[in-house]
Amino acid sequence: MPNDATDMIDDLFKQSSDSFESIHFSNNSETQLQSIVAIDSTVLGPALGGCRFVHYHSTNAAVRDALNLAKGMTYKAAFNRLPFGGGKAVIVLPNRVYDRRALMASYGDFIESLGGQFITAVDSGTCTDDMDIVAQRTNHVVCNSKLSTGSGDPSPHTARGVLRGIQAACVQVLNRNNLEGVHVLIQGIGHVGYHLASYLFEQGAKISICDVNQKALEQCQDEFSAKIIQPDNVFSTPCDVFSPCALGQIINENSIEQFQTKIIAGAANNQLSETRFGEMLRQKNIIFVPDFVINSGGLLQIAYVEDTEKLINKINNIYDSVLEVLQIAAKQKKCSNLIAIEIAQKYLLEHKNRESLSVVQGR
Ligand code: NAD
Repeated sequence: MPNDATDMIDDLFKQSSDSFESIHFSNNSETQLQSIVAIDSTVLGPALGGCRFVHYHSTNAAVRDALNLAKGMTYKAAFNRLPFGGGKAVIVLPNRVYDRRALMASYGDFIESLGGQFITAVDSGTCTDDMDIVAQRTNHVVCNSKLSTGSGDPSPHTARGVLRGIQAACVQVLNRNNLEGVHVLIQGIGHVGYHLASYLFEQGAKISICDVNQKALEQCQDEFSAKIIQPDNVFSTPCDVFSPCALGQIINENSIEQFQTKIIAGAANNQLSETRFGEMLRQKNIIFVPDFVINSGGLLQIAYVEDTEKLINKINNIYDSVLEVLQIAAKQKKCSNLIAIEIAQKYLLEHKNRESLSVVQGR
């Protein structure tokens, strides 16, 4: 193995304060696939997670992103008591022209080579069409189109869950039991953000939007009378709810300094660039709705795709989950992200104990 690769792995082990199960790499010079699958945990079942297809400035950054996202998936599945472990895939966006079909097919071969310990889904940069190609190479895929017996696009369900979480936070923080006139600023109006804007519009909320895609902005402006906010002003614009629905790591010293919101509640994974920023938000009286609680609608859809009634109930229950986490956090004077992690870890431990007991009892 070349030195830079061993150095990177060395670095990774040194930096990782948290444990993870395994990391897998695939490099295919023919299709330009450079992909990493991080498996954080298979305690509850096969690791399930989306495939992110974006630009990374280094392989190290891609690995770190995959690991952090995989950890969030472990918590998301455990919080919701689902039979899945946590994993995540990233594909580094090639710098040269590439054939997307060939690249996705080789990604499918990579997933197949993992023998079912990881099930891939969509994430930023991938869509159901991509998963249809992947499904031609492996069965360990979800979110492929319904025509090819997949679970389809999870985004509307994720957005519905985010709406329920926003409603719960507004009851808890603003003492408001409807969203009429509540000002929500959505950062990122892609697959989830667009649907969220439409649901908020139905509820009579006042909507502001920020994106780097001008066409998407114009569409939302027309359809939902949304106000466009420039990226430079996205954190400092006063609003009731700031809803991060683009990429993660946006909550840091710089953004916390600028925020003029009472609530942060959105779909993006890993919004806190470091765990300690949860406490910093609490000190500033900004209520943070933990991302893996509020954005679990997509995972719930994958789990309950065959039972629509149960799925609707589970997504509606995100309201209760968010309320529960915020109320415990308020009572214990702790930040909400730590409370949500504690609930997920408790379930993981209970499950491990049950498993050990059944081994001892020979079941
Ligand atoms: P997407 O790629 O469809 O949308 C992201 C949007 O953010 C795009 O419109 C993009 O132009 C915009 N964007 C990128 N950089 C930006 C910036 N600096 N400022 C403003 N906008 C910016 O992704 P998505 O599927 O809608 O997912 C959004 C987030 O939610 C991601 O973090 C994803 O991991 C998370 N998430 C998605 C789902 C799902 O069901 N799709 C489920 C759980 C979590």
